[in-house]
Amino acid sequence: MTTHGWQGDVRSILRVAERFRLADLDPGATPGYEGDKATGAKDLAKRMARLDDLQERLYASSRAGTARDAVLLVLQGMDTAGKGGIVRHVLGSVDPQGVQLRAFGAPTADELAHDFLWRVERRLPARGFLGVFDRSHYEDVLVGKVRQLADAEEIERRYAAINDFEARVAAGGTRIVKVMLHISQDEQRARLQERLDRPDKHWKYNPGDVDDRMLWREYRDAYETAFARTSTETAPWYVVPADRKWYARLAVQELLIAALEDIDPQWPPATFDVEAEKKRLAAS
Ligand code: AMP
Ligand code: MG
Repeated sequence: MTTHGWQGDVRSILRVAERFRLADLDPGATPGYEGDKATGAKDLAKRMARLDDLQERLYASSRAGTARDAVLLVLQGMDTAGKGGIVRHVLGSVDPQGVQLRAFGAPTADELAHDFLWRVERRLPARGFLGVFDRSHYEDVLVGKVRQLADAEEIERRYAAINDFEARVAAGGTRIVKVMLHISQDEQRARLQERLDRPDKHWKYNPGDVDDRMLWREYRDAYETAFARTSTETAPWYVVPADRKWYARLAVQELLIAALEDIDPQWPPATFDVEAEKKRLAAS
């Protein structure tokens, strides 16, 4: 008889520590979780009910107009890290009415004409919503830095701008959950290979992914700098080993549950006389 499940608090296990180095965390590891792919799938399914219940409460409480809470999941990672899979497999079960999903690609001319935070600010989740950023304002200090899309001084300015922005968003009632899905270079090769080998996956393949892959070390350094500069008390970074998709999904699910439990959303009280309405209905 084996026990499976989380052996500790996921947030403390996955939160980046000071001077964190990606090389120190094995992308194939499953920190804090006792079990394998089969138990992981079972546990994911089991915890869905909890996530769904909390999300529905959040949505309901905001509809009542009193709560100001929201959750924002920021997903970052190299290509093929599994951002899309998180959306499908972790958020796939919650009521889509309460989810606001935004994917950020290369900025449009209009977006480039504004400050880098402009496009994200406009897509923040409304109160009661679970927002997901598939890529985010962090691209502006990741690809922006690696490909020198802005000068060094501007990149430098952005870390503080991000911290100010996130502090303001958090003060407004939004729990920010920042996740980097950490895959190995070997695992990425295998996933890109599969995208090339399978015609049903060609649509996911982008030749530019190989260009970014060739800059692996530069991206690693840019991520580490981003963690060092923007992992704050109100909006810490979590690095989730992602070579095993089942583990990454389980971990992100648990991080979301923890954020929602912090909010502890309550069912809104009826705005009418329940007993009187029961009588009216019975008589109708
Ligand atoms: P994907 O998420 O794989 O569909 O690709 C989106 C692409 O948009 C990635 O190559 C990102 O690096 C790129 N991208 C996202 N945000 C920015 C940004 N702020 N500046 C430049 N490129 C970006
Ligand atoms: Mg891509």
